[in-house]
Amino acid sequence: MRFKSLGSGSTGNATLVQTTGPDACNLLIDCGFGFKHLQIRLEKAGVQAQDLDAIFITHEHGDHVGCVQALSDKHRIPVWMSAGTSAAMNFDNSSGLLHTAHDGLKITLGDLQLTPFTVPHDARAPLQLTCTDGRAKLGILTDLGHVTDHIANHLKGCNALLLECNHDSDMLTASSYPGFLKLRVGGNHGHLSNAQAADIACTVQHSDLRHVVAAHLSQQNNRPALAGQILANALSREVHGIVIATPDEGCAWLDV
Ligand SMILES: [Zn+2]
Ligand SMILES: [Zn+2]
Repeated sequence: MRFKSLGSGSTGNATLVQTTGPDACNLLIDCGFGFKHLQIRLEKAGVQAQDLDAIFITHEHGDHVGCVQALSDKHRIPVWMSAGTSAAMNFDNSSGLLHTAHDGLKITLGDLQLTPFTVPHDARAPLQLTCTDGRAKLGILTDLGHVTDHIANHLKGCNALLLECNHDSDMLTASSYPGFLKLRVGGNHGHLSNAQAADIACTVQHSDLRHVVAAHLSQQNNRPALAGQILANALSREVHGIVIATPDEGCAWLDV
């Protein structure tokens, strides 16, 4: 199994997960770009839009939903999301391609198995997820205000993490954001700070956690070097790769 962020940040998020076995699967997690931009990013990653087997949408915010309706309709790609997310984004299911995802209920897509789990974020019914091909496990965790025991339990044993490092708390406090926005971003249903991300990475690390990708960095209230350093401080040397996903390029393919 391998994965690649196609871009991450408040301007848009999408991640590819790919298996290569006899039941190979190309999964797109979130779709937060315009149709043409997403297509360019997919092509750069060596994947054609029509080769996507499924799309999973974590929640209805624009930087995650993007062109999902058009993409699914055009190429007849099945889409999974919670009932709350599909209601909040008014997904038009005339195509019959919508599937409802639930906390803790496994989804099998070829040789890939997904397990969605609930996270605290200011959306209707947000879900993040783990993916496994039976050999390795990838955890995707962005857009949440704080980490719960439920989340930590789901992330146990992950060999790779794509992890929100949204802001540095001091930079957020000192920023020109209006007060209500500072409260929203830093609140219990907002976004994870670097320190909160480091805490959960430290909690779930083990000798076979190979990659941690810092994602959804705020361009105003964070710096890649800050996020990278705080993760490096929290993780043991056995985690050989800390990578920062950027808004424009995401990150390279990483084997899990
Ligand atoms: Zn987001
Ligand atoms: Zn969000």
